[in-house]
Amino acid sequence: MQIAFAASEATPFAKTGGLADVVGALPRELVKLGHQVTVFLPFYARARRFIQGDPKYAIGSLTIPFRYYNRFAGVVDAGLREGVQHYFIDCPELFDRKDLYGPGGAEYTDNAERFGLFCRAVVEATKQLGVPSVFHVHDWQAALIPAYLKTVYAADPDLRSASTVLTIHNAAYQGAFPPNTTEQLLFPWDVFTMDKMEQYDRFNFLKGGIVFSDVLTTVSKKYAEEIQTPEFGEQLDGALLKRAADLRGILNGVDYALWDPAIDGHLAAHYTPKDLEGKRACRADLLHAFGLENVAETTPVIGIVSRFARQKGFDILAEITEEIADRDVALVALGTHDPYYENLFRAWAFRHPANIAVQIRYDEALAHKVEAGSDMFLMPSRYEPCGLNQIYSLKYGTVPIVRATGGLEDTIEEWDARKGTGTGFKFAGYDPMDLLAEIDRALEAFQNRKAWERLMRNGMARDHSWRGPAKEYVRVYEEAARRK
Ligand code: ADP
Repeated sequence: MQIAFAASEATPFAKTGGLADVVGALPRELVKLGHQVTVFLPFYARARRFIQGDPKYAIGSLTIPFRYYNRFAGVVDAGLREGVQHYFIDCPELFDRKDLYGPGGAEYTDNAERFGLFCRAVVEATKQLGVPSVFHVHDWQAALIPAYLKTVYAADPDLRSASTVLTIHNAAYQGAFPPNTTEQLLFPWDVFTMDKMEQYDRFNFLKGGIVFSDVLTTVSKKYAEEIQTPEFGEQLDGALLKRAADLRGILNGVDYALWDPAIDGHLAAHYTPKDLEGKRACRADLLHAFGLENVAETTPVIGIVSRFARQKGFDILAEITEEIADRDVALVALGTHDPYYENLFRAWAFRHPANIAVQIRYDEALAHKVEAGSDMFLMPSRYEPCGLNQIYSLKYGTVPIVRATGGLEDTIEEWDARKGTGTGFKFAGYDPMDLLAEIDRALEAFQNRKAWERLMRNGMARDHSWRGPAKEYVRVYEEAARRK
């Protein structure tokens, strides 16, 4: 099958979150299963670094019309990487910028035009490079592709056989813009209705994808249920409920070539379920990196790696910072994004320099060190479509403490000390006291070294490689193709 991915992020070219990990890894796995995959990305400033010499153009100039003018986009042939063909949509005035979406968590004011152009350019590019059986589009930035195909391009004979799959990685990010975006992006005004792309008087990219894609997926079964409810649907629950029969939950896999303590190049030492010894050196290395060298060997270390955003649940953590700091525990946090949460962690570390430490930045190598060097990993998320760090943690023998929502619910099984089963600690209520009680359960379990190692190994034995999920996606592509 021929599959074209369109997304705003993919490792190693451009990443702000889990989306990039998925678009970086899933195509390779599909190639291993015998499919042909191309990946389209915007040609951001940071993606340029991956092109040696002058870019090679597969298409010199596509004309992308707007209401009062045309823009022109080239298509850079970024070549084959592990069997996956990559193309970059090149429109320097829109994409050759420092950030993907805007400076410091803010949005560029022309994001509708940027990603509107991206979507249309991908469609136009495939007309010259080969129309796929399936367009697999990701999140709001690529969600106009199904909408264009079913409206503006509906009569195009070249595109008639192409089906579409939208994956929602996070329903809270929707790409909602003023009504006249409809006209600016040359959609007919009849899409600007409640049953199509209008959402509370905004032109909503994600809703366009939800309404017009053949099949929808999201990144865990639990989140697929949750987004059909008002609590998690971010006001799109109605539109999603209407498509319930076409909505699937497929858990993200993990790229174990990058995330495996037996081979991870970022670590001070390697270890495996059979021989855990190396984890001690990783722990010492981590404490050194955070300036917490004086933490006793017997004191458990809790790690956090996170986009500091409201989603991630630090509001309930904020209410129990003093209780945690008073316990026999060290906590290291790596994260950036929202200044409010950055300052919350800074202030907490400032008050308790002996056992709380934070680094405010994006640091791939340090993220690996936190996964390997911590004893526990904390994700108290308000909601979590899939979550990757808890799955990495399992592999690293770092026991997750999570809130039972979305992918956290689907991937972590509560530890049962009597039976010796389970992989972590899970609490239900979005409540500081529930969180504290769960942390206390974990700290208590940590006292029994033998049982704790059993718990570590339970997690390390779980297989979250991409093989299983990739096969599920193939079934979804086949289903989408049958709909045509
Ligand atoms: P989300 O996509 O909502 O941010 P995920 O858990 O799905 O959350 O994916 C987050 C990804 O980003 C993981 O690969 C994680 O390691 C990485 N990450 C997040 N913050 C940082 C940071 N400050 N430094 C390095 N990596 C980070």
